[in-house]
Amino acid sequence: MSGESQLRADIVEIGRRMYARGYTASNDGNISVRLGSDRLVMTPKSVCKGFMTPDMMCITDLEGRKLQGDRDPSSEMLMHLEVYRQRPDVQAVVHAHPPIATGFAVAGIPLDRAVLAEVLTTLGSVPIAEYATPSTRELPEAVRKYIKAHDGMLLANHGALTVGGDLYAAYYKMETIEHFAKISLVARLLGRENLIAREEVDRLQGLRGTYGIKSPAPICADPSEALALLDAGDPALCQVVQAPAGGGQRLVPNILGQAGDGASKPSAESEEIRLTYRELSALIEDALRSLR
Ligand SMILES: [Zn+2]
Repeated sequence: MSGESQLRADIVEIGRRMYARGYTASNDGNISVRLGSDRLVMTPKSVCKGFMTPDMMCITDLEGRKLQGDRDPSSEMLMHLEVYRQRPDVQAVVHAHPPIATGFAVAGIPLDRAVLAEVLTTLGSVPIAEYATPSTRELPEAVRKYIKAHDGMLLANHGALTVGGDLYAAYYKMETIEHFAKISLVARLLGRENLIAREEVDRLQGLRGTYGIKSPAPICADPSEALALLDAGDPALCQVVQAPAGGGQRLVPNILGQAGDGASKPSAESEEIRLTYRELSALIEDALRSLR
């Protein structure tokens, strides 16, 4: 199989996996990859990513002009072009709407807490690019702020974007984001999220290269200073990771002890507790409130 045929086949396979895993519904999502130094192979607009064939793909130049293909390129082409412009090292771009990660994007909660070693050594942190109308020039603007320092990000009220050194590398980062989001959601619903200490985060950062995934930027030495610069409109130059100094802490307090009068109060954490559905709902609501 020639290089181009292989890339077309890989896009079809990744589209199939995204659809099968529920990362896209209907015609959502898009995928692209560099073809040589001056062209891209890209998914067409208005097709379900689960049922594509290799001949459906578009070939464009780096300005987005269609060079080949019966269909028009993805409606999010501008976002893909911006990524390739900003990141000469990136070979492939994947965009989808995986439901749990997109839930965090809708809630405005970035996936930036130090909770999983694998995520710290692969993606670092996953920020949220500000809301922009899909398929307009606003979206590449929003992505530009974070793309130099991150290989994956959430798009506020929209979905997620990942990039990589090849198609599968970009796709696997999408899997990592959704998996991370699922685990974070479960931990937060359980009412505890034990964070990895800053010292361990620094050690993990030293391991990043050994896993074969080079990070585009270091983890910020001072997250609050980095967040202040981002708020002022500066592009991200490092990755904000929330990690406590010292032996780790619970960012979400143990909520079980704070149950209302009707709830049975456990005398020790290990004891069995019984809650009515209403009490449990109140606890979950409390936990969500404490995240805001
Ligand atoms: Zn989208």
